Amino acid sequence: MTKTYISADWILPMAGDDFAIADGAIVFENDKIIAVGKAKDLARHKETAQNVRDLTGFAVMPGLVNTHTHVAGAITKAMTEDVSGYGGAFKVALPLHEHYVRQEDIYLPGLLHAVEMLRTGTTTINECWWHQPESAKVIRDAGIRGVVAAEIREMDSSEAGFGNMERNWNRRMADEGIDEAIDLIENWHGKADGRITCRVAPDGPDRCTPKLLVELKELGDKYGVGLHAHTASIPGEAEFMLHNYGKRTIHFLNDLGLLGPGYVGAHCAFVDDSEIEVMRETGMHMAHTAYLVAKRGYYPPMEKIYKAGVSVALGSDWLSNDMWKVMRFAALIPRILSNNVGIRSGKDVLRMATIGGARALGMEDEIGSLEAGKKADIIAIDMRAAWFHPFRDEDLAANLVFNGNSTDVREVYVNGKHVVADGRMKDIDERKLIGEARAVAQSVWDRAAPLFAR
Ligand SMILES: [Zn+2]
Repeated sequence: MTKTYISADWILPMAGDDFAIADGAIVFENDKIIAVGKAKDLARHKETAQNVRDLTGFAVMPGLVNTHTHVAGAITKAMTEDVSGYGGAFKVALPLHEHYVRQEDIYLPGLLHAVEMLRTGTTTINECWWHQPESAKVIRDAGIRGVVAAEIREMDSSEAGFGNMERNWNRRMADEGIDEAIDLIENWHGKADGRITCRVAPDGPDRCTPKLLVELKELGDKYGVGLHAHTASIPGEAEFMLHNYGKRTIHFLNDLGLLGPGYVGAHCAFVDDSEIEVMRETGMHMAHTAYLVAKRGYYPPMEKIYKAGVSVALGSDWLSNDMWKVMRFAALIPRILSNNVGIRSGKDVLRMATIGGARALGMEDEIGSLEAGKKADIIAIDMRAAWFHPFRDEDLAANLVFNGNSTDVREVYVNGKHVVADGRMKDIDERKLIGEARAVAQSVWDRAAPLFAR
């Protein structure tokens, strides 16, 4: 039994109304938190703890929960950020992944993406992509917590864009995806000291037939795991759904019986008022990729979505994984679009990035806040920097969200294990890994030369 006692200037439990505890402390034993409170009230634990840490000048809070990721996206980092319209994803990134990335190319770049996540304070990810045994290995070896799902598609996903109303359905791809999903659940669910759990991930309602979508819902039910899917995610998707099924994405999915509290829909960028109402009614969760969609030049109608009371968590998607940027965009873009500062506060977006994410993943009893009995997924932000001061304690949340940087995260614990110490990975040589990941990515880029020449 190893007990750790950490004191800090501020503890943000993200639980109940007690927002920040000044001169606070947190105590955990192995993977579980046993006490959170004022340091003076928890001093007795100091005597019996094997690890005592004095984080004077730091704020300690629950690790961030990123509800939509693809670690394999490291191979296309920064490649398509400035390409207009559909071009980035459908002309470059998706064809690259569909036709040139092999299973063995994913681990090292993926591990580097996981390092980015941990170093910037994310302790749980909701991950889906192809070749997912590799992402499961990444999660295991990085030391992060992850919900992992094989993304199942029934077509070459790079052909889904450009307002294409036709599909070349390919059942073989679906069957391979189902096999991978079953393998993943049977071999990885509950593994890595319980850090890894699984879901089932239909790629998107426009990339699977209705028959497959129902099969995947049944597969999730059979194993007692939820669904994770791109949902109303690309321009032209609603038009595709209307053309082929006579209804928009959310209505289509609801009529098939997919939506509910076990469903995490990524993006939900193109939803109308009637769809927002169904999102709320069904209790599904939205993984709001606030930074990614802004880069694409579109944005979900967040003012309406918040007002309706839809469950909204935050996600990064696949090109960068800094949740501080995601939080800032989630707070600011709706203000710009609606001329209303009061839509979401710094405190609101911090909640969305922690307990809100935990709730979306059905893990609110385990993670997302610092409370006795929960997992010790903890981050510490070094506030001994000019950009944070001076400030009043009651403004701590706004201060973190609007003035903090991801690199201010200096200490990270996942499942009680110290993973990032003084801003560096404890067990991974980041610089060496950058070199190794780059070599793998370079080999993919070399093979994909015809794609770049187009
Ligand atoms: Zn995605």
